[in-house]
Amino acid sequence: YGALYVVATPIGNLNDLSPRAAQVLGAVSLVAAEDTRHSARLLRHLGVTCPLLSLHEHNEASRVDRIAGCLSAGDDVALISDAGTPLISDPGFVLVRELRRLGHRVVPIPGPCALVTALSAAGLPTDRFLFSGFLPAKRGARRARLEALVARDETLVFYESPHRIRDTLQDIGTLFGSRHLVLGRELTKAFETFLEGDAGHLLATMDDDPDQARGEFVVMIAGTPPRAEESRSDIDASALLSALLAEGL
Ligand code: SAM
Repeated sequence: YGALYVVATPIGNLNDLSPRAAQVLGAVSLVAAEDTRHSARLLRHLGVTCPLLSLHEHNEASRVDRIAGCLSAGDDVALISDAGTPLISDPGFVLVRELRRLGHRVVPIPGPCALVTALSAAGLPTDRFLFSGFLPAKRGARRARLEALVARDETLVFYESPHRIRDTLQDIGTLFGSRHLVLGRELTKAFETFLEGDAGHLLATMDDDPDQARGEFVVMIAGTPPRAEESRSDIDASALLSALLAEGL
């Protein structure tokens, strides 16, 4: 039996493709890719000539049988997306779930991922974070999603497109006030930038320099700060109660 290799590819800088990823892409019989034209360029760059099969959210379920057939015939298959790690806000979940259900081997080949790349250099707490993918495109739904996260104390992470970055920052400003944000823009590319401040400050920066609103974004919002006084009084109350119980009062 062959295996499905889930291969992470660069999010901008081609040198970020790992030697193991290149080796696997050069050895499989078929590469399933979100956009075959886009991925053909990467494979050409690597000197890989194997066939490509399109696999996107609209045809993913119908590709399972074909790929399972390859694996059963002993051929290895790779899954890649346009950028970064497949399945992370990208197609592949249905394929991986179904192949696992059928008992096939699924092997991750780790590498670039925009959310981890952004978090690793943003200076926000990373011990706990909540990745919420893309926010809804419609304002009402977007606000509802954000509102449900306002009280979370983990770092919040979203993906956002240049078409909606200003609208999203406006909604964050309305709901999170002066909460600290970091925007990772064009990561690993020539114009990589990290902007930080509250939503109002980031919008003003984009008004001054419209280039700052272009490209691809990872939006990171600091979690809500702990309510120090409340928690201190909780501790005091329980300490007092234990002391009173210890005294037998
Ligand atoms: N699978 C990818 C990953 O592992 O990160 C994410 C794919 S998702 C369809 C594309 C989104 O990821 C973009 O809209 C942007 O929010 C984020 N992204 C991808 N590459 C990026 C980069 N170089 N800089 C900043 N954000 C990026």
